[in-house]
Amino acid sequence: MAGLRSDCVVVHYHEIALKGENRPMFVRRLAENLRKATHDLGGVRILTPYGRILIQLEKEVSWPVLRERIRGVFGVANFSPATRTAREPEAMEAFLDSALAERTFESFRIAARRSDKNYPLTSVELNYRLGRYVQDRTRARVDLKNPEVTIHVELLRKEVLVYFEKHAGPGGLPVGVSGHVLSLISGGIDSPVASYLMMKRGCTVGFVHFHGSPYLTKASLEKAEELVQHLTRHQFKSRLYAVAFGEIQRLIVLSAPPPLRVVLYRRFMLRIAEEIARRERARAIVTGENLGQVASQTLENLTAIQAAARLPILRPLIGFDKEEIIDLAKTIGTYPVSIQPDQDCCRLFIPPHPSVAAEIDEVDKAERELNVPDLVKMGLETAQRMEFTFP
Ligand code: ATP
Ligand code: MG
Repeated sequence: MAGLRSDCVVVHYHEIALKGENRPMFVRRLAENLRKATHDLGGVRILTPYGRILIQLEKEVSWPVLRERIRGVFGVANFSPATRTAREPEAMEAFLDSALAERTFESFRIAARRSDKNYPLTSVELNYRLGRYVQDRTRARVDLKNPEVTIHVELLRKEVLVYFEKHAGPGGLPVGVSGHVLSLISGGIDSPVASYLMMKRGCTVGFVHFHGSPYLTKASLEKAEELVQHLTRHQFKSRLYAVAFGEIQRLIVLSAPPPLRVVLYRRFMLRIAEEIARRERARAIVTGENLGQVASQTLENLTAIQAAARLPILRPLIGFDKEEIIDLAKTIGTYPVSIQPDQDCCRLFIPPHPSVAAEIDEVDKAERELNVPDLVKMGLETAQRMEFTFP
C-alpha cells in the first residue's frame, strides 16, 4: 500500500496522561505538532472533532511517509488509516463491501464503540449485525479472543469511522507541554538518547556542544549537528550552540592538579551552558550522565559537578545499563552517527588516573587559581548558533 486511499487517519492518545485541566491544551499541542510534522505533504489537514484527532487527507499521500511522520510525534498512542461513513448501518456495510474485496482472512471480530450513546443500536447489536454481514461476504469465522483481523467501528455524533489496522505511536507527551530545557550534547551515544527522552516527556530541547578547537578537529561538532538534525524530527525546530572549549581546557590544565581536570572541564561546561540557558529561557540542563559508567560519573563527582550550577541538572539515563542505552540509541536511529570516530574534547589532556571522588574543597581551591568569569566569557564569545528544521 504505497498511496493511502483511506480518507483520514484517526489518532489516539493515552487518556490517562491527559486527564484534568491540562487536557485541552495537550490535545491542541498534539494537533499542532501533527500539523507541523505533515505540513509539507500537501492536502493534509488536522481536525479535532469530538475530542478526537483526525488527519484528513484531501489527496492521496504516500502511506510510508505519513506513517513515519506520525511515529515521530510524541503523545500519539496509536493511529489507524480510517474511512468515514454515514451513520446508517447500510452505509457501513457498503463501505465494508468494497474494503472486503481487497482482503482475505479466516477469522475476525467487529469492535464497535459508541461515543454517541443516543445511537439507536447498542455496540453489541451493531457488532452482531456487521459481523453477520462480514461472515456472509467472506465465510470467515468470528473469533473474539484471537482474530486475524479486527474491524473497528467508532460511532461519532455525525459520522462513523471504520478501520482495520492499528499502528503503535511513540507514546510520551506532546513536545511543548513541559517547558524548555538545554541539553549538553557530545558526539557520543548517551546524550542524544537523554535528549530524546526529555522530548518524549514533552520538553522542547535546545542544545550546546563543546568542541576541542583549536587543539582538536571539529569532527565532534559535525556529529553533534547530525544528531541534532536527526532529533529535530520530534520537535520540528532546534537550536544548537557550538562552543570552542580547547583554550579553556588548556588554561585549566596549566594550573589545576591533573586528577581534577575532568571535573573542572565539566564545571566550566555547566557554567557556560547556564548562561546560554538563561538567554534561551531554559529551565533545566540535561546530560547523558549515568551512574558509575566512567570515572567522572561517581556520586562524588556528580556532586562536585552539580555544585557549579544553579539550574537543576536532569540525567534521564542515570539508572540505565549501557546495553539499554545502546538499544534505545539504535531504536531512535542515533547510534550509527554516535559510533563514528571523533575527537571528543573531554579526552583532551586527560591524566592516566582521573579522580573518582573529587573533594569539593580541592575543586574550589583549584578554581581559585583560575579567573572563572573570564573563562566563561571566553567560551561564550566563541559560541556559534545554528538552526535546524524538520521537515
Ligand atoms: P556521551 O555518550 O553522551 O558522550 P559519555 O558516557 O561519554 O556520554 P561523558 O563523556 O562523561 O559520558 O559525558 C557526560 C555528559 O557530559 C554527556 O552525556 C554530555 O551530556 C556531556 N558532555 C560531555 N562531553 C560533551 C561535549 N563535548 N559537549 C557537550 N556536552 C558534553
Ligand atoms: Mg562522551
